[in-house]
Parts: sequence; structure tokens; C-alpha cells
Amino acid sequence: MGEAAIIDGKAFAENLRARVAEVAAGFLEKANRKAGLAVVLVGEDPASQVYVRNKGKQTVACGMESFEHKLPVDTSEADLLAVVEQLNNDPAVDGILVQLPLPGHMDEAKVIATINPDKDVDGFHVVNVGRLATGLPGFVPCTPLGCVMLLKDKLGSLSGLDAVVIGRSNIVGKPMAQLLLAESCTVTVAHSRTKDLPEAVRRADIVIAAVGRPEMVKGEWLKPGATVIDVGINRVPGAEEGKTRLVGDVDFASASEVAGAITPVPGGVGPMTIAVLLRNTIVAAHRNMGLEIDESVL
Ligand code: NAD
Repeated sequence: MGEAAIIDGKAFAENLRARVAEVAAGFLEKANRKAGLAVVLVGEDPASQVYVRNKGKQTVACGMESFEHKLPVDTSEADLLAVVEQLNNDPAVDGILVQLPLPGHMDEAKVIATINPDKDVDGFHVVNVGRLATGLPGFVPCTPLGCVMLLKDKLGSLSGLDAVVIGRSNIVGKPMAQLLLAESCTVTVAHSRTKDLPEAVRRADIVIAAVGRPEMVKGEWLKPGATVIDVGINRVPGAEEGKTRLVGDVDFASASEVAGAITPVPGGVGPMTIAVLLRNTIVAAHRNMGLEIDESVL
């Protein structure tokens, strides 16, 4: 097997954002206002601040309104819930995202449960989790939806393919498995207690790695020609003293010798997450105002 094809998530995300911008322009004409995304950040976690800044910038670049609510780290849970309620009731806000993780004194599940499910563009509310599991229209978590978009772009129909999802988090692994099942894949969900992970991976036409362990999945585990989607984002020491670099959960060097196609890190799944968030927001805006939207162009 030669070198795998590189799945260019950065280019795909750029195209998706351009399509969202077109639909957002149409929404402005029909609704007489821009679609709006509210992002709530509690505390000053540096990584979260970067995410929130990027989300805001890209929201505006797509012709939508960005509302940022930055609350101090010692905000009470009751005050945060009041902000969420206010956003639930604000007709200018179509999508609400509460940046996770929240400070330890807050109950994340309770906060997510307070978001109106029809504005829950992250797809974390149990109502949306249930909708996904039962095949009803709702909102699907951005990172796994982005992975499925990349897979379908590369492979066309996924029907009948064997897929292994490594990781079972509520944010990535579990919704990923549901989405692949909905695409008629035969899905195996592997996790930290899986007995023989290389063996499970070897059977798969599609491998999704969402573990958070640098370069864990080796090329020799893969079925030749498999499509590999690497969700992991891990910061490791770089070649130069004091420098760091990003790597995925897949050992790219060995995996790209065996795989048919593979996402790089960075530039693979990473850029998809915000693009899908913007997609979910413009969908929410249309649905909540009872306006038609052709979701197939997104
Ligand atoms: P998590 O820590 O919540 O879940 C990790 C999962 O991996 C767990 O279900 C665990 O069972 C499994 N696991 C741990 N060790 C294992 C092992 N040795 N073998 C098999 N499975 C094992 O993580 P998460 O939030 O799902 O994120 C996973 C990775 O994806 C992280 O690197 C994170 O940074 C990245 N991530 C990227 C994006 C993005 O690209 N935008 C979004 C979310 C998460």
C-alpha cells in the first residue's frame, strides 16, 4: 500500500463556511435580521478563550451576529442559568453555546439541560441526544457531524461498511457511533476497557480515533486501504527545546503507509468543528422562524 490520500478538512471547512454565508445572506433577506449565535464563557481558561474568539470571528465572517457573554470564574450557577434563560427568550439569538468545561462548582448537565433544545446548536441537550438516537431531526454535536461530512465526501455511501469508533465520550464517541449507524455502517465502539483494540481496528473500513492519547493508533493495526479520521488534538514536546507541536491520536507516519485516506492533525477534523457549529446555527435560525431551508446544500 502506498501513501494515503490526505483528507483536507481545512479546505472542506472553508467551503462549508462559504455555503453557510450564502444561506445566511438569504436568511437576512427573508427574516429582516441576521441569524445570531450566543457564546457563553465562564472564567479565563486560555484554550477556551481562543475557541470563543475564533467562533466569534467566524460567525461574523459568515454574515451572522455574534453575542459573547463573558462571566467571571466565581459566577454562581444560578446567575449562569439566568443568562441562559435570558438567551432562550431572546428572539435575536438562534443558537446558544455554553463553552465547556465549566468551573468545578457548576453542574454541567444542569446547565446544558437549561438550554432550549431548539437553540442547542452543540447538540448536547438530552432531547437532541434522544432525537439523534431515534432518527428525528434535531441538532448533532459539531465534531462528529464534521467527521461524517468528511467521510461521505471521500467515500460516498457508507452503507454496509465496518466502522470502529475509539472513545465513548458524550461529545465525540457516542454521537459518532449513532451517526455511523444512521449511515448503515456496522459500528464497533472501543474504549479504555476494550480487550484487543488492534484486532477491533484491523476489521474496520473506517477508523475514528477520539481518545486523547498521542499517536496511539499504529499503522500496523489498520486494514490496508481503511479510511482514518483522527479527532485527537494532543500537544507534545517539539523537536526544538521549549517548543511544542500538535499530534493526533493516530501515528500519522505509519498509518499513512497503510490507510487509503487519512485526516492530518492539524488541518483535518479540527477546522470542521466551528464550520459545523455555524451550519447548525443557520439551520436553527430557519427552523425556529418556520422558514424553509434546503439542508442538503449544507
Ligand atoms: P474524553 O477524554 O472525554 O474521552 C476519551 C475516550 O477515550 C474515553 O471514552 C475512553 O474510554 C477512551 N480511551 C481512553 N484510553 C483508551 C485506550 N487506551 N484505548 C481505547 N480507548 C481509550 O475525550 P473526548 O472529549 O472524546 O476527546 C477525544 C480527543 O478528541 C481529544 O484529543 C480531544 O482533544 C479531541 N477533540 C477534538 C475536537 C476537534 O477536533 N474539534 C473536538 C473534541 C475533542
